[in-house]
Amino acid sequence: MSEPEKVAEYYREKEDGVVQCVLCPNVCIIEPGETGECRIRLNSDGRLTLPFYGALSAVSTDPIEKKPLYHFYPASRLLSVGFYGCSFHCPFCQNYSISQSTPASPSSTSPEDVVNRALKEGSFAIAYTYSEPSIHFEYVRDTSKIAHEQGLKNVLVTNGYLSAKAAGELLQVTDAVNVDLKSFNEKFYNEEIGGKLKPVLNFIELAAELGVHLEVTTLVIPTKNDTEKEIDSIAEFLAEISPSIPLHLSAYYPTYKYTISPTPPSVLENLSKVAQKRLRYVYLGNVRSEVITRCPSCGNKLIRRTGFHVSLSGIDNVVCSQCGFPAEIVGIDKDY
Ligand code: SF4
Repeated sequence: MSEPEKVAEYYREKEDGVVQCVLCPNVCIIEPGETGECRIRLNSDGRLTLPFYGALSAVSTDPIEKKPLYHFYPASRLLSVGFYGCSFHCPFCQNYSISQSTPASPSSTSPEDVVNRALKEGSFAIAYTYSEPSIHFEYVRDTSKIAHEQGLKNVLVTNGYLSAKAAGELLQVTDAVNVDLKSFNEKFYNEEIGGKLKPVLNFIELAAELGVHLEVTTLVIPTKNDTEKEIDSIAEFLAEISPSIPLHLSAYYPTYKYTISPTPPSVLENLSKVAQKRLRYVYLGNVRSEVITRCPSCGNKLIRRTGFHVSLSGIDNVVCSQCGFPAEIVGIDKDY
């Protein structure tokens, strides 16, 4: 017998079988037989359904540094699951083959199966990642709850584009999040991506308020979001929440619809210095160099990362081995 159709949460019924999804700020009006902007949530005879519940584009075990998360259980590995579809349509998407498509005949992996696999492989957590997990809200929430019951942690790698209520519900079962803050410019969000900036900022603030471990990534694209003013605005916004929020400034490479030249390393390094005036931990991403976490008090090298090799030799019993300043890293006091 086939599985009963999964019905979505966060939608309203309108007239003539039309529905409105209110999961994310796109608030799509969806005609019968159609999906919303994300291609994931389907109007099936006047009900919003989830034909891609449990349809995974990838399952693999990754170092946590790959998410990237540098201040949460460093040097550990976690089971990563990926999806299809996205609430945005970034012309520079590095995962466009899964974010801008859906499989013709999706197969489904149950939340229980994902959790069991994570346990079997000795992962300490499950990451919901690769393409946008938040549009698979019900599946991620269901899996996260079971993961917690089994003693696993949950990591969300997201564009942070959810309605306030759904964001609160998902963050309640999330332990760490990396939010992709694509720009600090409303026009960039509107014209390049097809979204709005403010809900993403709200999501970041809410994650911090709820005590979820938070890191932020910005892909630096030449001529689009690479001015000192823009990166300083991002740093200022984050520093007002906490100067300890790690910011990852990632190098862009041409892909999908963008043919702009890659981000020069000198630009990335300069912008990193701009952000460091306000934030304690700023990292360069997508570059081939050692990535170091320095003690904000004495400059000691707390953590060194070469590729995915990680050394925590500058930390002694959760503090800097030189000056005793607390290492602002979650999970180094645990046996995992
Ligand atoms: S989750 Fe998908 S269907 Fe719902 S509002 Fe967002 S883009 Fe539209």
